[in-house]
Amino acid sequence: MTRLAIVSPCYNEEAVLNSSVVRLTDLLDTLVKSGEVSAKSMIVFVNDGSSDATWQLICQHQRQNNYVRGINLARNVGHQNAIMAGMLTARHWADVVITIDADLQDDLQAIPRMLQHHREGSDIVYGVKVSRKADPVFKRLSAVAFYKLQSKMGVKSVFNHADFRLMSRRALDILAGYGERNLYLRGLIPMIGLESSTVDDVISERTAGTSKYTLKKMLSLALDGITSFSVRPIYLILYIGFFFIFLSLVAGVYVVHALVVHTAYPGWASIMLSLWLIGGVILLSIGIVGVYVGKIYTEVKNRPLFNICEIVGDDDDAAV
Ligand code: UDP
Ligand code: MG
Repeated sequence: MTRLAIVSPCYNEEAVLNSSVVRLTDLLDTLVKSGEVSAKSMIVFVNDGSSDATWQLICQHQRQNNYVRGINLARNVGHQNAIMAGMLTARHWADVVITIDADLQDDLQAIPRMLQHHREGSDIVYGVKVSRKADPVFKRLSAVAFYKLQSKMGVKSVFNHADFRLMSRRALDILAGYGERNLYLRGLIPMIGLESSTVDDVISERTAGTSKYTLKKMLSLALDGITSFSVRPIYLILYIGFFFIFLSLVAGVYVVHALVVHTAYPGWASIMLSLWLIGGVILLSIGIVGVYVGKIYTEVKNRPLFNICEIVGDDDDAAV
């Protein structure tokens, strides 16, 4: 029977953790009773270097609840890397891994449907947000703008899917072979191939605690989401460069003509304006190239994505 691991990254989540454990335990109990998953299924919490009592809470639940296991990361490495740590560890424990945020804003009712799709042959099942009403207006608008920009840049990802998904061990083993440092799982996982499908995910509001995704973290994820999968921004710079060279040739013809016919042209204003414009374009271009060079730098160093300092609840003695 399918052994399921529900993997959940936690960063300073002491406010929601208790209720999340109760809700996930109820769900697993139901799934076990109906024979959909094995009684050896589990909930794996990944503590992403929290500075509050999250890890202590996880350990406490692990002692009282047979389903609960905990992975303690040595420091905060961010949502994407924390999920990766959880998935790569849990694939040694379970046949199927479902990732879900610790605040359980995603639709738990979608989990039985994900398992159904898996039984019907899907190795990857994406939860797709059908409504973002529970999200703040800024998050909703920025998400739509980002997904549009991303698809214009040629990145293939599932629209309105965040990291709520099911993956089989087979898919996870393949994912483990991608040695990327700048992780953007929503772009990377569709590259695996294999059979995939989607289920609707009606998201709800966070019941406690606050969003751990600061604007800075959101921007950095968005930048990774484009620059890790597309070189179009660099080509865009090239085209802009060509355009300005063309423009300056036309302007050159005009200037020569003005010299020949002796038209006096006043004007440092036009010179200054074009200087600023060209200066801006050059700075932007260097910046974009810099982002790619920076990425090469981090990829080349090949540092580990996360360091696990402790695991609790691993009573199978399976190799990690
Ligand atoms: N998270 C994490 N590391 C971080 C930031 C967030 O593991 O550095 C986790 C967080 O605990 C939560 C999930 O990522 O389980 C999504 O974060 P959150 O719910 O705050 O984001 P939002 O739903 O507001 O986008
Ligand atoms: Mg959330």
